[in-house]
Amino acid sequence: MKFSSRTLFKKSLEIFQNLPKQHRGIIIASSCFLLLLLIIPSSEENLDVEDIQVGKRIQVALPEDIMPAGTIPRQSALPQRSTPKVTNNTTTEQLPSLAKNQSTQQDGSLTSGKLQRKVKIQDTKEELANLSWQTVKVRNGDSLALILKRLGFTAQTTYAVSTAKGKDSQLLKRLNVGDQLRIASNDTQQLAALEYPLSKTDTLFINLVGDSYQSHRESKEVEIRESFSYGTITSSFWNAGASAGLNDSQIINFANMFGWDIDFALDIREGDSFHVTFEKKYVEGEYIGTGDILAAEITNQGEVFQAIRFTDGEYYSPDGRSMRKAFLRAPVNFKYISSSFKRNRRHPVTKRVQSHNGIDYAAKQGTPVVAAGNGKVTHAAYSKYNGYYVFIQHGNGIVTKYLHFYKRAAVKKGQRVKQGQVIGYVGATGLAAGPHLHYEFLLHGVHRNPRTVKLPVAKPIAKKYKAKFTLLAAKRLEALSGAKNALLSTQANDIAPND
Ligand SMILES: [Zn+2]
Repeated sequence: MKFSSRTLFKKSLEIFQNLPKQHRGIIIASSCFLLLLLIIPSSEENLDVEDIQVGKRIQVALPEDIMPAGTIPRQSALPQRSTPKVTNNTTTEQLPSLAKNQSTQQDGSLTSGKLQRKVKIQDTKEELANLSWQTVKVRNGDSLALILKRLGFTAQTTYAVSTAKGKDSQLLKRLNVGDQLRIASNDTQQLAALEYPLSKTDTLFINLVGDSYQSHRESKEVEIRESFSYGTITSSFWNAGASAGLNDSQIINFANMFGWDIDFALDIREGDSFHVTFEKKYVEGEYIGTGDILAAEITNQGEVFQAIRFTDGEYYSPDGRSMRKAFLRAPVNFKYISSSFKRNRRHPVTKRVQSHNGIDYAAKQGTPVVAAGNGKVTHAAYSKYNGYYVFIQHGNGIVTKYLHFYKRAAVKKGQRVKQGQVIGYVGATGLAAGPHLHYEFLLHGVHRNPRTVKLPVAKPIAKKYKAKFTLLAAKRLEALSGAKNALLSTQANDIAPND
């Protein structure tokens, strides 16, 4: 059907005159407003030469009749979502700024008839489609300002985005190298949206709402599944742990958990075994990593040690005593010792020379040495025989001595040190054949074997938590032994996986 502009005008006038007075007022006001919008060009539309970059798309508005009939907005320019929800050709995942535009358009359509309405919807769809998304990888030395500048945005935009409403916009100040940002610009080259995945579960969203930015954070639900693993040691605890499918931090956590009871550097023997239940995390059915160790057991030279994680994040023995004690069994991390264990497949005991009054730990020069317990430094000096050395006075008449450092850490005589604090680095200064730590443990001035000496008993769990812990411990140990038994029955006489 063809009709002239004159008949259209006539018809419109007729409709207009039949409307109530109030509606006519609204139509006149909104028409004036629309006319003003058409006349005044937006400042962003005045492109400077600097704004034009090679490879950057510049939106040029086309008159409606130039567009081929039934033109579909470029869907590829829409944000790539895993589950795009599209209804009536209008994506429901609209940006707040666009949703707002749509509402003004709906007001307008009430007055302008079907034709006008069709044009307006087309406009909204175009606006959505015209959002041009880019993925940017954070480079070394990058900041939000640098990234946005590269994309052609102004410093004002950076400021507005980084001060977006909502506390989480602060996270944009700590971008990590390799992080990926998704940034969308609208047809006026304004930054319309930004997505910053913070982790495998969390994403920060920044959206242009009106003329300011708003931020919010979305978290995916993490599903926790319990898992079980075990191993038998043939060369080192590290290798056995890795073969059992534990990751580095789990192996370290496991050793730390029992580090007050077992010297992982020297006391692990071939045939020692361990069993562990731990958390595995899943997001939308996809494995994203391990969680905490829930219960662990190690059989060391025939002696069984067990630890259970309580709700406070600490580990306790089944009778409710903290695994943490006043002294670590070894002042060096076992992982530095295990490397030599692996190289020369000798029995570990041969590496220990229990002559004189202490224990020697053979380790690479520079291996960190930590204070076995809290105390006060009584000596931090150099001598012909000891080389660089540190003595620490602890409570209850205990003194520990550390000799032959390559160099001392920044510890001074009279200084208080904490258990686990680095006090020096393995070396061969003084009377030493090769790099090693010579470690002594004295009780009331008498040398004792630090690996076997009876150490002060750890404090039990607080009385008010005792019942809760006992219940949890029973449950955790049952799960652990259940998994062990299931394994034994299926395994029969198969060889256990190990290193
Ligand atoms: Zn020695």
